Amino acid sequence: MKVLVPVKRVVDANVKVRVRQDGSGVELANVKMAINPFDEIAVEEAVRLKEAGRASEVIAVSCGTAASQDTLRTALAIGADRAILVETDVELQPLAVARLLAAIVAREQPQLAILGKQAIDDDCNQTGQMLAALLDWPQATAVSQVSMAAPDGGAIEVVREIDGGIERLELRLPAVLTADLRLNEPRFVSLPNLMKSKKKPLETLPAAELGADIAPRWTTLKVAEPPQRQPGVRVDDVATLMARLRDEAGVL
Ligand code: AMP
Repeated sequence: MKVLVPVKRVVDANVKVRVRQDGSGVELANVKMAINPFDEIAVEEAVRLKEAGRASEVIAVSCGTAASQDTLRTALAIGADRAILVETDVELQPLAVARLLAAIVAREQPQLAILGKQAIDDDCNQTGQMLAALLDWPQATAVSQVSMAAPDGGAIEVVREIDGGIERLELRLPAVLTADLRLNEPRFVSLPNLMKSKKKPLETLPAAELGADIAPRWTTLKVAEPPQRQPGVRVDDVATLMARLRDEAGVL
């Protein structure tokens, strides 16, 4: 079973994001970028499936500018076998990415696509669902466990964390999964593995060759900093807390 893992280059989760002066977006100049954390988890899961003998090949794919090669190298260092950069300078929105990925699926014929449940820059949480819809494949979103058992009649078993419990699903393959935070803890990418990843194949495909309509569907009107929070105060006892909540915050 081939596994496709789409990975997005985003601002590193440890960077404090700053809004551009003109409110047109967030500052990206000289900012540390990294693989989207949920995608790192998705790559780790695909590599574990391979190590467990359930997957034959793990292919990482990223859509964006040439800078996304770094993100693909991280995926290769975790253990992906090869990588595809779908290169474009167009600002990609989820439907555009889903269309490009659907074209890659048609080319590569994977049995499973594991995406992150959301990209931490746009927080859209849409691409996996749109990809499943375009392919007409079953989907399980926010997956927290994937069964490593031997393939059974072309199906895969997963667990999802839902309000008030867990949901266990069996999906007919091919299928789309999106990875939640608790799915696994990605391995540490060692320097030797990072060096070795430079020797793994990384193919670049111009997005225009895939024939997908990737034109943006929305325009960002304004991005603003969240309102500053007032600093907290300590009170001496519960009675004072209750009085202040009643008299000043008006919540009692
Ligand atoms: P989103 O719908 O934007 O929150 O993204 C959900 C998931 O779709 C991400 O975690 C990635 O797995 C995938 N994805 C989004 N954008 C890209 C991209 N430009 N290239 C590859 N994968 C992407």
